[in-house]
Amino acid sequence: MNLQTGIYYWPTTLKNPPTYSNLQEDLDCDVLIIGGGSSGAQCAYYLADSGLNVVVVEKNTIGSGSTTTNTAIIQYSGERLFSDLVNSFGRPYVSRHLQLCKQAINDIEVASSLGDIDCEFTRRDSFYFASYKEDVQKLQKEYDLLVEEKFPVDFLTADQIEDRYPFKKDAALYSYGDGEINPITFTHNLFDYAAKKGVKIFEHTEVNGKKFEPTEATIRTKNNHYITARHVIVACGYEGIDIKKEKKASFVSTYIVTTKPVEDFSSWYNKTLIWETARPYTFVRTTKDNRIIIGGLDENTPFAEVRDRKLISKRDKLLLEFNKLFPDIKVEPEYYATAFYGGTNDGLPIIGRYDEYPNCHFLFGFGDNGTVYSMILSKIISDVIVKGSSPDLELYLQNRPIKPN
Ligand SMILES: Cc1cc2nc3c(=O)[nH]c(=O)nc-3n(C[C@H](O)[C@H](O)[C@H](O)COP(=O)(O)OP(=O)(O)OC[C@H]3O[C@@H](n4cnc5c(N)ncnc54)[C@H](O)[C@@H]3O)c2cc1C
Repeated sequence: MNLQTGIYYWPTTLKNPPTYSNLQEDLDCDVLIIGGGSSGAQCAYYLADSGLNVVVVEKNTIGSGSTTTNTAIIQYSGERLFSDLVNSFGRPYVSRHLQLCKQAINDIEVASSLGDIDCEFTRRDSFYFASYKEDVQKLQKEYDLLVEEKFPVDFLTADQIEDRYPFKKDAALYSYGDGEINPITFTHNLFDYAAKKGVKIFEHTEVNGKKFEPTEATIRTKNNHYITARHVIVACGYEGIDIKKEKKASFVSTYIVTTKPVEDFSSWYNKTLIWETARPYTFVRTTKDNRIIIGGLDENTPFAEVRDRKLISKRDKLLLEFNKLFPDIKVEPEYYATAFYGGTNDGLPIIGRYDEYPNCHFLFGFGDNGTVYSMILSKIISDVIVKGSSPDLELYLQNRPIKPN
């Protein structure tokens, strides 16, 4: 899969990343994690203290997949409103999902604080505004649900918004306790932490053959080594569907621009994470070195050449969209990219378990909260492997029940 094109910001923030050799022998292990992106790192992190013999293989280098272009806004709210998810899944299901999202953000904060590499995790409030007057009611409904679920959130009126920001909007949800992170340093930090606990990591080691039997799998690498494993986790990001097609997954093309550092953020209330109800939406965040990341303007194309052709015009449009919000902040692009972006048709991420792959978990942390979702799924998968079960597994299986109210 041609995942992305562009000039990337995050890799420039880690000058001497840890490196790992390629696999040079046959191995036997308890758990094989395929994929060295943030999802593979989250699995390695949860399994690091399990006492199991864990191996990670990455076909390129750590973090070189979608993790490179991840804008890494860490939020509990996703593209689909929780009040809409209730219609498909019922209230108890959505309540539990909400709790797991909140817990995952806390877990990301803890994981970021362990280890030696600065993950730049910062708590931020989120500002989610109504792009159109007719969306105000939807936000009100979402607010009511979040309050009932005891989530810290305010409903801001047009006057309250004008008091805080240099733009006018009809209404917004202002929620507390979200965050932002550096996805590349986060991924390296977790792998570095896991490696120090004995997890074996190999870069430049591509899986290109597999045989699954009831009690173990045998995986062949491109340089002709074999790994036998009691459990396999496929954490190949969007490329996981090249191994097992998942019909609930869908893809769009998206665009991001990272500006040169900006001096004055005084008009940007609390450097909030900002996004909106329009689809496709535009979103903005800041970085530790005072840049602004602007993303969105998704296109419904699955063709990389169509996606890439629009990069420069989308970059310029994203800057214009930003200046509609903050006309006084002068922005110049320094890094910009376009990428495929995966979601699911019911709005929740997937743990794929398929009869033809016994003892194998496909981690499809798809959706705009990919990092948060992958934290939830990694914990569930490691619980299933280590303890034999997880009460939350059923929520995310590919064949989860849809319960109309
Ligand atoms: C533009 C963009 C913006 C995003 N913004 C956000 C955001 O703001 N917040 C958020 O939470 N999420 C966001 N996401 C989602 C987030 O990026 C992903 O959820 C996350 O990075 C996925 O990590 P991953 O490890 O699953 O995938 P990847 O980073 O793609 O890692 C998978 C790895 O598997 C390796 N691999 C594949 N096949 C094989 C094989 N056969 N053998 C060995 N290795 C293999 C690949 O080389 C790759 O390194 C965004 C995504 C994109 C593209």
